[in-house]
Amino acid sequence: MLNRIDLRGRVPSAAELRAALPRAEVDVDAVLHHVRPIVEDVRARGVEAVLEHTERFDGVRPATVRVPAAELERALAELDPTVRAALEESVERARRVHADQRRVDTTTQVVPGGTVTERWVPVARVGLYAPGGLAVYPSTVVMNVVPAQIAGVESLVVCSPPQAGFGGLPHPTILAAAALLGVTEVWSVGGPMAVALLAYGGTDTDGSPLEPADVVTGPGNIYLTAAKRLLRGLIGIDSEAGPTEIAILADGTADPVHVAADLISQAEHDPLAASVLVTTSEELADAVDAELGRQVAATKHHERIGTALRGRQSGTVLVSTVDDGLRVVDVYAAEHLEVQTADAREVAARVRAAGAVFVGPHSPVSLGDYCAGSNHVLPTGGCARHSSGLSVQTFLRGIHVVDYSEEALREVAPHVVALAEAEDLPAHGQAVTARFRG
Ligand code: NAD
Repeated sequence: MLNRIDLRGRVPSAAELRAALPRAEVDVDAVLHHVRPIVEDVRARGVEAVLEHTERFDGVRPATVRVPAAELERALAELDPTVRAALEESVERARRVHADQRRVDTTTQVVPGGTVTERWVPVARVGLYAPGGLAVYPSTVVMNVVPAQIAGVESLVVCSPPQAGFGGLPHPTILAAAALLGVTEVWSVGGPMAVALLAYGGTDTDGSPLEPADVVTGPGNIYLTAAKRLLRGLIGIDSEAGPTEIAILADGTADPVHVAADLISQAEHDPLAASVLVTTSEELADAVDAELGRQVAATKHHERIGTALRGRQSGTVLVSTVDDGLRVVDVYAAEHLEVQTADAREVAARVRAAGAVFVGPHSPVSLGDYCAGSNHVLPTGGCARHSSGLSVQTFLRGIHVVDYSEEALREVAPHVVALAEAEDLPAHGQAVTARFRG
């Protein structure tokens, strides 16, 4: 079922590997021309433009962008108790992991009387996106809100697409998850319109202000990801967390039933989702193909899953050794990487590039999607080569605070002057020596 690439007996360069490995044909660049006018329109015409585009893409026009507080309370009161218990467990585990990520301020005494402190300060206002197109993601509300709250962000707004079946409000489980976490501001807006409105701010239909955000985080489809790319700079973003990817590095010890189930679980997100098996075992590859044939037919979203698995972005890569496999997965830099080999811990410890790594037979990606405690907003499209997943750090800025006494400055002054003159910036040196004249 999966396309097959045979790299056995070959050691391609990183550039050759990048070209050879499966990846989505539709890349973010290809939709920029479509998304840019939407973003420009929101900048020029604010909420009126947001609502027009929303009507076009979501088939509904919310009465107000901001969801009334009563709707949040109602959604929480009506939440299925089993889902509530699961969300509470997810929140509790995420809080435990993210609490440990909070950096502490450090002060270095460079010389007597001269210190540099690095202070970690939360951004003032953040916009947190929970998708709501093909599926709705209350779990993503948890993954966004928990690190922002632990970072100490004071003002946060959750955005999610309006649902035609719910009178233009986001899905009730999104509202309930937000309410459960104590979020009071939720906007009913999705896709590129959400990112643009968060970046520029606007005025709601009832005249109340929709304040812009400093940082916008959260995953979404290719259009939302394109808007993040376009507006990066005006706003900070987490990473480009686009259509989901799973890579599984496996040898002959892996169970094909589990491997196939995990490949399917991520293909379920989006027809553009990528499921990639990297294996030393042709027998496993064959068995996984057979399993996919059986399991896909039995799943609810088999059409979407079939499209994703047959797409150019999915496939099986055959390699000679686990070491070669490691090279492949490092170049691929998957959003999610499972290691299902003998000595899985040892192999996983050698991975250099992945959004998150899932080790051994009992750590499937679905666990990380909901309840491992780790964050599921992770870089896709190879961005894991240079970016990290969402964390408390995403919402903090490090500020250097320099504090020197007169004596400490006097002592270093000749060096400052020498460097200033070497750079032909004498006024820099004079700003120091002016303090010691006379
Ligand atoms: P979404 O909320 O990202 O997108 C839906 C919105 O897109 C709609 O509100 C609509 O306004 C807008 N839209 C639809 N078609 C458009 C068009 N042609 N032009 C402009 N805007 C348009 O929800 P989704 O579509 O279900 O996608 C969610 C994505 O998030 C999936 O690809 C999933 O794989 C991904 N995901 C990624 C991560 C991660 O961490 N990387 C985590 C969870 C989900």
